[in-house]
Amino acid sequence: MDKILFEELKKIYNGDILYKDEDVYPYAYDTSPNPQNIVKPEFVVFPTNSIQVSKTVLIAKKHNIAIIPRGAGTNHCGGCRVKQKSIVLHFSKMNKILDINKEDLIAHVQPNAIVREINAQAEKLGLFFPPDPSNLAVSTIGGAAALSSGGPRTFKYGSTKDYVINLEVVLADGSIIKTGSDVAKNVTGYNLTSLFVGSEGTLGIITALTLRLIPKPEARKVTLAYFDDLISAVSAVNAIINSGFMPATLDLLDRNTLETIEKFNPCGLLCDKEAALLIELDGFVENLNFECKKIYEILNKSNAAQIIQAKDEEENEKIWRTRRSAFAAVTKLRPNVVTEDVVVPRSKIVALTKGIQKICAEHDIIVCIMGHAGDGNIHPNFALDLLNEEEKKNFEIVKDKLFSLALSLGGSLSGEHGIGYEKKKYLNQALDPVALEYMGKIKKLFDPDNIINPDKMF
Ligand SMILES: Cc1cc2nc3c(=O)[nH]c(=O)nc-3n(C[C@H](O)[C@H](O)[C@H](O)COP(=O)(O)OP(=O)(O)OC[C@H]3O[C@@H](n4cnc5c(N)ncnc54)[C@H](O)[C@@H]3O)c2cc1C
Repeated sequence: MDKILFEELKKIYNGDILYKDEDVYPYAYDTSPNPQNIVKPEFVVFPTNSIQVSKTVLIAKKHNIAIIPRGAGTNHCGGCRVKQKSIVLHFSKMNKILDINKEDLIAHVQPNAIVREINAQAEKLGLFFPPDPSNLAVSTIGGAAALSSGGPRTFKYGSTKDYVINLEVVLADGSIIKTGSDVAKNVTGYNLTSLFVGSEGTLGIITALTLRLIPKPEARKVTLAYFDDLISAVSAVNAIINSGFMPATLDLLDRNTLETIEKFNPCGLLCDKEAALLIELDGFVENLNFECKKIYEILNKSNAAQIIQAKDEEENEKIWRTRRSAFAAVTKLRPNVVTEDVVVPRSKIVALTKGIQKICAEHDIIVCIMGHAGDGNIHPNFALDLLNEEEKKNFEIVKDKLFSLALSLGGSLSGEHGIGYEKKKYLNQALDPVALEYMGKIKKLFDPDNIINPDKMF
């Protein structure tokens, strides 16, 4: 242990610091797979306010040691992974929803407020916070903002970036700044809020957020439609949108996903179908009855093999529980699951999905494909054994081919999970070289000593 550093941190944290191997090692990891060359954090600290964060950053700068901001650590991209001597800033003591202002439609929250809790508190006032990463029960708003997390509702409502209007951020020189104002519209100067949201904790540390809320929809209706082929399922997505509908959710599940859910969580899914679409409409009850009838007609015309429409909230929730159980079901297939995240123009979903299935068949890797079809955002869940050297080698080839395929279809490396450590080697294939160079300059400007979450993204 670095004793000098420990003494300096002790003055800030009153000794509430983790430093023993068995205490700090868990903070070296996140949900991302296959970590190699992991280094244990030197210290893990639990700030209660932004001044403590600022003082910690100044100490890190003085000792040239990295700072890794961390929420729930559930990211898939290695964003919290520790690769060098580091202090992990864990925000579990800054987890409050400070206030919700119904008139101004805003909430003030601390970085470790949990996404589901923010929405639950907003709903009590008839308001709605739409960002819904599937693990919203544990996802922190600091982590969700740093990644601009999305979710099934992104098609209609957008992702976290659309609901952050002002931030308090601690910069690498210790200064504490506000990026904007607590107003719905603001074109005063550069939009620093947008710069920090999605920057994966590489430019500064978020210590407070002002969030935009909207009125809560009165009700929702969920439909599950099965198709004998993928092309019909994707045509149905287009037909729904082209008929003027904007469902909250248009999620796709492939046959392997349906089979895997049914195997481990029997709930009556039809496993002889090639694909299923989960469609959620929300709004006023009267409109929903009309819209559901129309959606039924569109699905029928699009050759849906079977259509199930939930009759009440209990049935809505039953369908959603099935969808949410998909990840857990896939984890039972093999020792490891790697969830990937690519995005293509919606017109290329069939080419992408069939391409992924072909690549995986060629390299003997099991894949269950889900996705937010409305956004063109596809999540292949690869089930494999990362301790099996041959499988691991094959998987590296599959990943290379997956990203090349997405890029060749006019898509991108990530729709919502971020780049982090895992995908940085592909960044130069995905970005304009001059744009990439300017991104590097932005990082240097904000963090000249490269201490804030180094080794991520670039
Ligand atoms: C089962 C499962 C389902 C998921 N479903 C989705 C989904 O539907 N959609 C989706 O987009 N993602 C999803 N994810 C990925 C991920 O969990 C989410 O993006 C989540 O919002 C991250 O929150 P977190 O608190 O775990 O962040 P962490 O993993 O702790 O951190 C994420 C990144 O943010 C940085 N960070 C954390 N706090 C701060 C801060 N205060 N200031 C600056 N930087 C900070 C970290 O350094 C890291 O780079 C899923 C993950 C799992 C395991």
